[in-house]
Amino acid sequence: MTETLIRNARAVLTMDDRGTEHADCDILLRDGVIAAVGQGLQSDGEVVEAASCVVTPGLVNTHHHLYQTLTRAVPAGQDALLFGWLRTLYPIWARFGPEEMRISALTGLAELALSGCTLTSDHLYLFPNGARLDDTIDAAREIGLRFHATRGAMSIGESDGGLPPDSLVESESAILDDCIRVIDAFHDPSDGAMIRVGVAPCSPFSVSRELMRDAALLARDKGVMLHTHLAENDEDIAYSLAKFGCRPGQYAEDLGWTGADVWHAHCVKLDGQEIDLFARSGTGVAHCPCSNCRLGSGIAPVRAMRDAGVKVGIGVDGSASNDGSGLMAEARMAMLLQRVQSGADAMSAREALRIATRGGAEVLGRTDCGQVVPGMRADLALWNTDQVESAGSWDKTALLLAGPTKVQHLFVEGRQVVRDGLLTSINFEQTIARQTTLAARLSLIP
Ligand SMILES: [Zn+2]
Repeated sequence: MTETLIRNARAVLTMDDRGTEHADCDILLRDGVIAAVGQGLQSDGEVVEAASCVVTPGLVNTHHHLYQTLTRAVPAGQDALLFGWLRTLYPIWARFGPEEMRISALTGLAELALSGCTLTSDHLYLFPNGARLDDTIDAAREIGLRFHATRGAMSIGESDGGLPPDSLVESESAILDDCIRVIDAFHDPSDGAMIRVGVAPCSPFSVSRELMRDAALLARDKGVMLHTHLAENDEDIAYSLAKFGCRPGQYAEDLGWTGADVWHAHCVKLDGQEIDLFARSGTGVAHCPCSNCRLGSGIAPVRAMRDAGVKVGIGVDGSASNDGSGLMAEARMAMLLQRVQSGADAMSAREALRIATRGGAEVLGRTDCGQVVPGMRADLALWNTDQVESAGSWDKTALLLAGPTKVQHLFVEGRQVVRDGLLTSINFEQTIARQTTLAARLSLIP
């Protein structure tokens, strides 16, 4: 039996159904699960003093392309719109191999962990030079984060009228075969799973209608989730109308891409009917506010989605379009953008934090994560509110108004992944050095 007692936390934001918040509270973690929450708890295990900390559930990241941490701030892509940005980066990504995938994932996961994330999904949709989904799963196991890897894909290259170069696309039969391989090898459907696998063609404009349909059939057969990009910007809508003769929501519905086992990234341009469709069908949304700002895509109608009952989580998106993986800052941006669109009362700091924790867990189909409640998995973020960011705050629990963006401590499945602001599981300096070397090598190739 392994126990950790988190003692005397300044506050615990449980994110339970009633939004309960406790002051001066202990939390007992036992064998990966939250065993008790209350005052005066006792344990013979390790004790973490938390009088300076506000405790939240670990944050959940619902959309990322971890491999892109190797191509942040590439000069030619810095000011481009989505499609131009992709055309700049595809040839660089075509030079990646297994080590680039593993190290870039490790770097992105490190940044996520330090910003309070305990569970992240990843969307990897290109596999050049022997790279495999396995490379990113290795990185997640090394750092100790809960990981939902999605096996992405592109099958329509330039010669078929698609956007990516032919060297980055795969045959549709090879894509489906490899989806089956990685699901069988890694997917764990049980409570407390550290690794799950999803099926995730890159977007409706980079694979065929048949692959979208077959991917949905495969995912349902295997009992795994489906993920893709949808309705990201105006170009995306125009493409859908011209190519498919319908809006993205209709396209998704026709091909089996709605339901409680589906979540779509961005959805900036969903209209009222599509919002109703998502609410009715239980389809989830990964809202990526920084990426939407960075690429000038627009402001996703998150207020309208939430009011209609759509499940929404936060995603940092790939680090080439954000350009960071700081999840707490992303949650704050989600709050600010809704206020830009609809006024200062459009989204509270507490609601945005709820979206970033429990909301994300619901989008990813995790009923065992996202709340600080006995019986839930022991995934916790401890935020030190005695530091400069919170000094003078009248409400130390309003973390997204005046709070730290990096954690003091982070627990995943009861194991401490961050202690006193430092990662416990990897050699951080060595990882950054290797990442820097790989980025330099990529930039030297013409
Ligand atoms: Zn994305």
